[in-house]
Amino acid sequence: MRFLILSDIHSNLEALNTVLEQAAGQYDQVLCCGDIVGYGPDPNAVVERVREFHPQVIRGNHEKAALGMVDLSLFNPLAKRAALWTQGELEASNRSYLASIQAGPLDVPPLTLVHGSLLDEDQYLIDLEDALESFPLARYPVTFFGHTHVQGGFVRLQDGRAGLLNPEIKRGSSESQLHIDPEQRYLVNPGAVGQPRDYDSRAAFVIYDTEAQLVRYFRTSYPIERTQAKMVAAQLPQYLIDRLSLGR
Ligand code: ZN
Repeated sequence: MRFLILSDIHSNLEALNTVLEQAAGQYDQVLCCGDIVGYGPDPNAVVERVREFHPQVIRGNHEKAALGMVDLSLFNPLAKRAALWTQGELEASNRSYLASIQAGPLDVPPLTLVHGSLLDEDQYLIDLEDALESFPLARYPVTFFGHTHVQGGFVRLQDGRAGLLNPEIKRGSSESQLHIDPEQRYLVNPGAVGQPRDYDSRAAFVIYDTEAQLVRYFRTSYPIERTQAKMVAAQLPQYLIDRLSLGR
């Protein structure tokens, strides 16, 4: 089975469409680690596009925010503004689709999906210490997570040593591969489709081929200016517009 794994699409239709074009023909099923909406200018079109693929999906904190399920005073003011804007934009059928999405972890054998971590859907897996708390809870060799918008992840070897996964897809190259050893444990972040924060503005995604035991990390350029122009028209915060071209 070849899974296309998407995370943190964040209402960015141009990024999503570009990723789907690049990945076309290379996967059998779509999985999503949450944050379909929030920040970006196309919540309805993005939800509708995602729904076309009948993905296995778990909710992110921005689904909860868009549905009014969280105290927005815990969000930073710019994220809050965008969340309120998204709440106002969402059409009823898309809102009920988002409301039907369950919290992770979700097992899709032979892998697991989470938004934040295996401990908590809202936890940021930032460093090795965070990852070391999650590894013992892993039910399959590979767990996919999002939330940090940083492509890469963590590995724990059989002897207990652990390290960072850094795909480092340089300019001019679009793919980096990770061979999975089923005796080890992996926490893999496919990166953000719609708002990367790892100093690379290109949309990120992963294809996991379970027969070949191969995780393929990808980056692809998309028409950022088009997304940004829509954000200007929607009067979304300038900082959220600028960060798309900075990739942070
Ligand atoms: Zn996110």
